[in-house]
Amino acid sequence: MITILDCYTDEPAGLGVPPYLGTYPRYIAGYYKQVNYLTIDDLRFLKYYNLDEKKKEINHKTNIKIYNLTKNINKIKEILQNTTRLVVIVGVHTPGKYLSAIPGTLKEITHLIKELDCEKILAGPAVLGTQLEGGKFQEYLPKEIFDRTDSFDFPYTEIKEYAIKGAEIINQIPQKRIIEIETGHGCSRTAGCSFCTEPLKHKLEFREKKDILNEIKAFYNLGCKYFRLGKQSDFYLYPQATELLRSIRKFFPKIEVLHIDNVNPLSVICKKGIETTKAIVKYCTEGNIAAFGVESFDKEVCTQNNLNTIPEEAYDAIMVLNKYGAKKGKNGMPQFLPGINLLFGLKGETKQTHERNMFWLNKILKNNLLLRRINIRQVTIFRGTPLYSQCGNKFIKKNKKYYWKWRNQIRQNIDLPMLRKLVPKETILKDVRAEIYDGNTTFCRQIGTYPLIIGIKQRIPLNKFYNIRITDHMLRSVTAVVEKNI
Ligand code: SF4
Repeated sequence: MITILDCYTDEPAGLGVPPYLGTYPRYIAGYYKQVNYLTIDDLRFLKYYNLDEKKKEINHKTNIKIYNLTKNINKIKEILQNTTRLVVIVGVHTPGKYLSAIPGTLKEITHLIKELDCEKILAGPAVLGTQLEGGKFQEYLPKEIFDRTDSFDFPYTEIKEYAIKGAEIINQIPQKRIIEIETGHGCSRTAGCSFCTEPLKHKLEFREKKDILNEIKAFYNLGCKYFRLGKQSDFYLYPQATELLRSIRKFFPKIEVLHIDNVNPLSVICKKGIETTKAIVKYCTEGNIAAFGVESFDKEVCTQNNLNTIPEEAYDAIMVLNKYGAKKGKNGMPQFLPGINLLFGLKGETKQTHERNMFWLNKILKNNLLLRRINIRQVTIFRGTPLYSQCGNKFIKKNKKYYWKWRNQIRQNIDLPMLRKLVPKETILKDVRAEIYDGNTTFCRQIGTYPLIIGIKQRIPLNKFYNIRITDHMLRSVTAVVEKNI
């Protein structure tokens, strides 16, 4: 019996951390046809807490180590006893903060699976390395624990079949998930950005439109209503982006959330970019974000790391998205806005880098352009990337002492005033799901890409939907009161 153990994945192009369901477990399930699907949360619940229900909350906080249990939790001992092959999916290449899940590290997974008596295969991005904390080198593979590694790197001619068969693992998951959909892989640039693992993994290639639609159909027929076209390095590069979105809307009218993810700002300001932007606004649902991998507004850093965009181009792309997407949608969030990714620790980083970042961010703010969010990370250094061979962690070591200050200035001077413009006090946000408790506060989010975190200062039933009214702003989140239970 084959069991998939999902320890979650987060890559530059693709997310598989709950509430998302990533592509790896689905394609592998389709390849093997019949599998048991377990999450690392299932195994933690068994090994750390002996299936004790009382441990689902610790110190008056929801225990997010075991939040994402599967329906198989009731027969987990039997499943593990009967498993002859365990495929362990691991791999965080772009670590973030997750509200209701904690991806597994190789160290933790080794501890959890070492006593299992079966063949163990390591799969997912961790085949190249993994690291849950920014600013560090990748974790190295413990040799003794896995029998082999397998990237299960199927060609798209096979994925079209596996993706449909593998959709059935959703039946083993009790929670509602956002289905991360792949439109392509690889990078369009001959030489990639210094830190990025995507060019190491794939050549540029796109899936057939009909294959993507067939996969969405399989999930739709199983009751899934939330989708993100997020597994690609640049959604705008997909040759039939407008037709794909139009077809999704036409064939699957009951989809409630349709979002995209990564976008290269250069693609927005090229000739076809306006058409694609308009199609995204028209066919996707509100609260949508184009995550721009700007990484740095310092031209010197852009050059030394071969980054995809210079600041002027990023700024122009931000203007385009604001022009077409800033209008509020039905759920209270703007329809389609840019998000900015910034990376600390790149080659050539100096104190001026922060000043240049602040210059451009201030310009965006002062000119009344909206950013939905700014992600700031310390770069993770992966073997095989130019960053690894050229400078490793030299700049992280040199500048780490400034990072808290730099980050805090961006949060105080940019994020906070931006959030106040984006969703002023009294704004009503609809269809907000209560997710976790922390003391007497309930943290909630809308379903979708990078949703805003909302704190309600009372305990309200989890996994239910509410309309809320914003009462105040924190640096990157808001406080609110419940207007209506849905
Ligand atoms: S543009 Fe840069 S970050 Fe994006 S996929 Fe290519 S190499 Fe990676």
